[in-house]
Amino acid sequence: MRIIEVTVDEIFGGPRVHNPNEINPYVGCMFHCTYCYVEGNERPQSDLYVKMNAAELVERDIETRDPGVAIFLSSQTDPYLYAEKKYRITRACIERVAQHPQYRLSILTKSDMIVRDIDLLRNVPCTIQFSITVDNPELQRLIEPSAPSVARRLEAIRRLESEGIRTSVRMKPFLPFGFTDARKVIEMVADVTTGPIVVQGIDIGSAYMKRMAELALKHAPRELTRWLEQPEDVRTEREDIVQYLKRHPRVKYEDIRAVYQDVQTRFGAHPPSAPPRPGARKS
Ligand code: SF4
Repeated sequence: MRIIEVTVDEIFGGPRVHNPNEINPYVGCMFHCTYCYVEGNERPQSDLYVKMNAAELVERDIETRDPGVAIFLSSQTDPYLYAEKKYRITRACIERVAQHPQYRLSILTKSDMIVRDIDLLRNVPCTIQFSITVDNPELQRLIEPSAPSVARRLEAIRRLESEGIRTSVRMKPFLPFGFTDARKVIEMVADVTTGPIVVQGIDIGSAYMKRMAELALKHAPRELTRWLEQPEDVRTEREDIVQYLKRHPRVKYEDIRAVYQDVQTRFGAHPPSAPPRPGARKS
């Protein structure tokens, strides 16, 4: 992966983000999640662009932002990539936000590197959201090959909480084909974070959904077939999970039934690259 230093004209918002108060200190990502929704970020050979003047632009423009909306890092990259250790762009942006106490901060990350910035975060009203989608370390390495381990993320959450910094966990996305065991993930994180646990489905019509199906075909073909055919036990399992999410006092969730149903609609007859199953309907 080439690392390219650039200067940019704007740091807040951008064509691919919905939140005008969002900052993306980098373009590209070093974690390469299979389910990444940002085109190119899943490919290790993609370039990473470092926005060298990000903090100056935060300082220049922050007061044009609505203080009723938290300053958010980041949806198009992770603010604590390995490159952040050298470049400290995210840290410099937080330093600038901290000088404007009318603004809250919200950070979404998969990295324990965030504990480096506890000295700053203690002094800014903030929430730190950790993205955790699986509990199994082998599966995690498969779908998030270059991201810090879940164990390291949990340790970082503990550390932040012990410093009085509020955290939450996003199980985003809830992955199909048995990759996400929602119950296990929730049980694992509920003792660690004091904040909400947010569960959201995957965008089924997307390129990343296809990549997940290809991964399942390679590593979990039996589970893939179960999902596509949705026998009674998968339907029961699905309803059990939905009821569990509904009842859990800390969980905020989108109805994940659609993930099961849409998987079958989209891939049921012809899973990607798979030979047709005996008796499969031809289109
Ligand atoms: S950490 Fe986020 S931006 Fe980076 S590859 Fe994973 S999903 Fe994409």
